[in-house]
Amino acid sequence: MPRPGSTTQRGYGTGHQAERARWQARLDRGETTPCHSHHCLHPGQPIDPDPSQWDLGHNADRTAWTGPEHIDCNRSAGGRNGAMVANAKRTMTIREW
Ligand SMILES: [Zn+2]
Repeated sequence: MPRPGSTTQRGYGTGHQAERARWQARLDRGETTPCHSHHCLHPGQPIDPDPSQWDLGHNADRTAWTGPEHIDCNRSAGGRNGAMVANAKRTMTIREW
């Protein structure tokens, strides 16, 4: 199977954190990026550089990261992100459904 530039296939771990840090550094420099969610709830709204306002998305089979997603867009994608993300979001002030 193709492995597009991914350094890890284990889902979350150091690869996720490093990739997230890379994006955060770019956002901190003032770069903007659109939401990478396929189900974006805020079309046209760039990602907020506040680290609590975005999540790093990944493709459907978790072989590669896609990029920042709005926190609620990432969440709205259902179970594809697993329990860790769901737990992280419990501490944030977002809608529950
Ligand atoms: Zn979005």
